[in-house]
Amino acid sequence: MSEELKNIIAETKKQLEHLRVLGVEGIQVTAAAAPAVVAPRPQPIKKPTPVENIPATPAEPRTSLFGDIAPAPVKLTPSTETFEQIHAEIGDCTRCPLHLERTHVVHTEGNRKARLMFVGEAPGADEDIQARPFVGRAGQLLTKIIEAIGLKREEVLIGNVNRCRPPQNRAPTTEEATTCKPYLLREIAIVQPKVIVVLGNTAMKNLLDTREGITRLRGRFQDYKGIKVMPTFHPAYLLRDPSKKRETWEDLKMVRDYLDSHP
Ligand code: URA
Repeated sequence: MSEELKNIIAETKKQLEHLRVLGVEGIQVTAAAAPAVVAPRPQPIKKPTPVENIPATPAEPRTSLFGDIAPAPVKLTPSTETFEQIHAEIGDCTRCPLHLERTHVVHTEGNRKARLMFVGEAPGADEDIQARPFVGRAGQLLTKIIEAIGLKREEVLIGNVNRCRPPQNRAPTTEEATTCKPYLLREIAIVQPKVIVVLGNTAMKNLLDTREGITRLRGRFQDYKGIKVMPTFHPAYLLRDPSKKRETWEDLKMVRDYLDSHP
């Protein structure tokens, strides 16, 4: 046996002993990793980083299991717009067919520095007449829900994905929602609330771009560009099925606890 091979074997033994002390119980050797004659010189083994020293956010660039670059999490870009500018741009909107039967465009209303925002689907008959979101029976229940978590209606922000009432209160089509949603997203970028509560399936699917249903996602915080999103039942649904109020209350308590622990 050559002197060099003897050295390699001795060095390898030392490294294996080091690994055993570190708790490694076995290593897999493949043909590719063990060439017949010239083995690479073993490198000194780095001690594992203690868990508390591992950074919370992985360093860039991030690679996935298959070696491709994983997308960085999307964050909301701060906005310098105002609600007035956005509402002026919407104007007497005719961008989708909903304008044909509406009375008023119903804009987002409430505290523009709110930590909590509620997003519904589209105005109903009362909202269409008064040009204010959530003022009908469902809206009155929403006000009670807001007060139940210790807030006043004026302290939160309330809006809809669509600003015009769909005929017979049908759900807005994908095209109608896609046309109107960007204005809501621009308002969200201005206010940057800590939490958005999405009310019902249509609002949730539109804000989160998900195909999951409300029954599956409610009660579990989701993410919209770094903002916590809590899907829950729409108050109009609670009026039809009051037994669902208990779950809604559980969801809203999670929102209240999150806001309390993130002042
Ligand atoms: N339902 C909604 O989704 N929005 C309103 O503004 C009123 C009822």
